[in-house]
Amino acid sequence: MTNRTFTMIKPDAVENGHIGAILEKVTSAGFKIVALKYTQLSRRDAEAFYAIHKERPFFGELVQFMTRGPIVSAILEKDNAVDDFRALIGTTNPAEAAEGTIRKLFATNISENAVHGSDSDENAAIEGAFHFSGREIY
Ligand code: GDP
Repeated sequence: MTNRTFTMIKPDAVENGHIGAILEKVTSAGFKIVALKYTQLSRRDAEAFYAIHKERPFFGELVQFMTRGPIVSAILEKDNAVDDFRALIGTTNPAEAAEGTIRKLFATNISENAVHGSDSDENAAIEGAFHFSGREIY
């Protein structure tokens, strides 16, 4: 799995009509989409997915945000996928993100920041398996 990462286009970016533009940036950067789904997280899903953040002060806000509308989830394949995708999306806070990054272009603020990207190979595998069964990955 070391050449794979997991992403979500978050509810803010879906609401703002950026699904197509974001997928275009992703594929233009050399990522191959090996799994793709348009779905909505339940409260239970979001709490489980972000369990690592459950002690953080923004946890409730994060769960509320991530469940308020549909998302696009995907598994992406490329050499050095995790690090290259983090570089493509930019920093958590879009105000600090580099020009041309997905968060700089499409995010609203540190909370509503348009996209998720796994932070390690291990988490990419866990997160991908959370969203997709083996027969949904091509
Ligand atoms: P990421 O790896 O860049 O997504 O950042 P983190 O793992 O630190 O945080 C996970 C997600 O929680 C972020 O992408 C944001 O949606 C949200 N988040 C992070 N920091 C804050 C914050 O200070 N306030 C709020 N409201 N949300 C935050």
